[in-house]
Amino acid sequence: MMISVADALAQVLAGVEPLNAERVGVANAFGRVLAEDVASRLTQPPRAVSAMDGYAVRAEDVGKVPATLTRIGESAAGNGYDGGISAGQTVRIFTGAPVPDGADAIVIQEDTETDGDKITMTEAPTPGRYIRSAGLDFAEGDVLLARGRRMTARDVSLAAAMNVPWLTVTRKPRIALLSTGDELVLPGEPVGPDQIISSNSIGLGSFIQAMGGEAVNLGIARDDPDDLRRMLDGVRGADMLVTIGGASVGDYDLVKTVLGGEGLDITFSTVAMRPGKPLIFGAIHGKPMLGLPGNPVSAGVTSVLFLRPAIGVMLGLNNDETPRETALLGRDVPANDHRQDYLRSTLGMSPDGELTATPFKKQDSSMLRLFAQSDCLVVRPPNAPPLAAGERVDIVRLDWSNLSV
Ligand code: AMP
Ligand code: MG
Repeated sequence: MMISVADALAQVLAGVEPLNAERVGVANAFGRVLAEDVASRLTQPPRAVSAMDGYAVRAEDVGKVPATLTRIGESAAGNGYDGGISAGQTVRIFTGAPVPDGADAIVIQEDTETDGDKITMTEAPTPGRYIRSAGLDFAEGDVLLARGRRMTARDVSLAAAMNVPWLTVTRKPRIALLSTGDELVLPGEPVGPDQIISSNSIGLGSFIQAMGGEAVNLGIARDDPDDLRRMLDGVRGADMLVTIGGASVGDYDLVKTVLGGEGLDITFSTVAMRPGKPLIFGAIHGKPMLGLPGNPVSAGVTSVLFLRPAIGVMLGLNNDETPRETALLGRDVPANDHRQDYLRSTLGMSPDGELTATPFKKQDSSMLRLFAQSDCLVVRPPNAPPLAAGERVDIVRLDWSNLSV
């Protein structure tokens, strides 16, 4: 039975579970997903510090300018002034240095004149001027990074500033990738006249890595039941099995029948979409299994729409909906049939600054060049009417805003 994209996605999401956690050093946490809230282990700044190079003063001493004060010492970052300031006194201070007790403002260097230890202030500061108060950034115990967040490089800086040496993150999903097909060889191998390169398995490995998983490439199974069965053994230790090819109804499409004999429990095997109609989801040996179509673009598009969210669930990612936006069509598109279409398209800007999406004229699911050149997929719902250039459509970007640095 052919099911809708939305139903298929719901079943995939229901068929995978969050993985357990592990600890990593803060320096290795980029891209990892937090399994726990993270609270600060200190207050930042720990005490009031200067935001500028200048002089620490009591604002009341500099109410009228010019005002001449006596310099009694210096406070540098990492080397504060021991002691306080009394009436008529000032301390030379630098950016990031602790503000001496008694001082409540900084007069910047540019607004002073120096004559030995007599410093004349030429501008009157308001109390608090150029002082970063204790805890301005955050306080000890503040939860600044939430469970389910994918760590950006900025988050890594923040966690380090919070004096957090290690983080508890979800284990990277190990995805076993099994290609199928007598015609497949690896890049660099001799290529016979009837053979093609197994490009998918390699591209999908990169995709899985980019999504925060770890690909375990099991290799290429021949279109032979025994070979397929034998290679299935490699799924042990993985969190999910992804097969490529052999998912359709041809004589050599063995995934359903052979894996079925090995205990594959199929949830669905046909989705009303293009590309990607023959798409299998189920469970084998207690693990989720996704059977992708062999055509490179079909495999790529179904990975974006189904494998990525499945990895998101395993990672425990928050806010992991596939980013949906709209854009204005860059060219006319015809009426659609009963399958949901995903048209490979480039993004641009209209003269008045609107995002435009222009589908390529050719959409054959074997064409990798145009897929690589695409910025997004234009979504055409089942039975959609024809649309003219300039009309608004849903798009799925192929660059993810939540992979930000
Ligand atoms: P299949 O789903 O096995 O019928 O494959 C559909 C099409 O995708 C065929 O033209 C296959 O040669 C091609 N194909 C299958 N697997 C791969 C792969 N790993 N890399 C590139 N093309 C593939
Ligand atoms: Mg095949």
